[in-house]
Amino acid sequence: MWVFLNDKFVDRKEAVVSVFDHGFLYGDGVYETLRAYGGRIFMLQQHLARLHRSGRSIGLDLPMPEKDWPALLSEAISRNGLTDAYLRITISRGEGEIGLDPALCPRPTVVILAKPFAPYPPALFLDGVSLTIVQVRRNLSAALSPQIKSLNVLNNILAKQEATRARAFDGIMLNAEGYLTECSVSNIFFVRGGRLCTPSLECGILDGITREVVLLLARENGVPIEEGRYNAEALRQADECFLTNTTMEVMPVRELDNMPVGSGRPGPLTLKLRELFRSNLSRFLG
Ligand code: PMP
Repeated sequence: MWVFLNDKFVDRKEAVVSVFDHGFLYGDGVYETLRAYGGRIFMLQQHLARLHRSGRSIGLDLPMPEKDWPALLSEAISRNGLTDAYLRITISRGEGEIGLDPALCPRPTVVILAKPFAPYPPALFLDGVSLTIVQVRRNLSAALSPQIKSLNVLNNILAKQEATRARAFDGIMLNAEGYLTECSVSNIFFVRGGRLCTPSLECGILDGITREVVLLLARENGVPIEEGRYNAEALRQADECFLTNTTMEVMPVRELDNMPVGSGRPGPLTLKLRELFRSNLSRFLG
């Protein structure tokens, strides 16, 4: 496996980072997860734009201009002999003496990983997944904005652990005010009376790129959309529910806290949006 590290591709055995790297010491850095279909990357420009936005939000200038990334990512895919690939760009503050001050790190560390894409088991798409509402709250936007895709992922990890303890596929976090936000690695949608609902960005969520695509497809196909603030009760009364992210695309939800959502089967609008996502995919490949 070839890994891009800082300025060149190296074998994974040589792809090592210093114990003084502030990404390791403090979770100081940003990342993106991308997916390639047949060698073409889904929503490439949007992922790169979000990476730059995340970097800017923490005062981390990416060491390469935005225009250089597509060729690097293509090389990461082709060098590893891949077509359907999972890609992860990680940019940490870099190596520096102990201390929180980013000025201690003269140069960011850049890593690109490309692995074969490992699909979720088909049964999850056929039957839907189970969710639980977890106790841990989503980070307060004013403290650490969920829109920064940072290496500080502990908030989400705590949610995932809680969900695993409850034997659920994933956990939905509420925000400090008690409104629904998102799951540990995905955005959430639900359907109520034919209307597609999803927490608004103001609830304190990552501005998911798959979420944007699903909203666009819904709009183009005349599906009524509502972005707003919803409590857990709204979700309990939903007819359908699904999750979105780059690797899941559209994932149906069958159960919330051991109670069926709607019929307990993937609902018609969920299936329609999943189908629209798949049939329109080529429009979104870079
Ligand atoms: N929310 C969180 C917390 C995530 O980690 C992700 C995955 N990046 C998403 C939502 C979905 O984002 P995207 O559709 O851009 O993959």
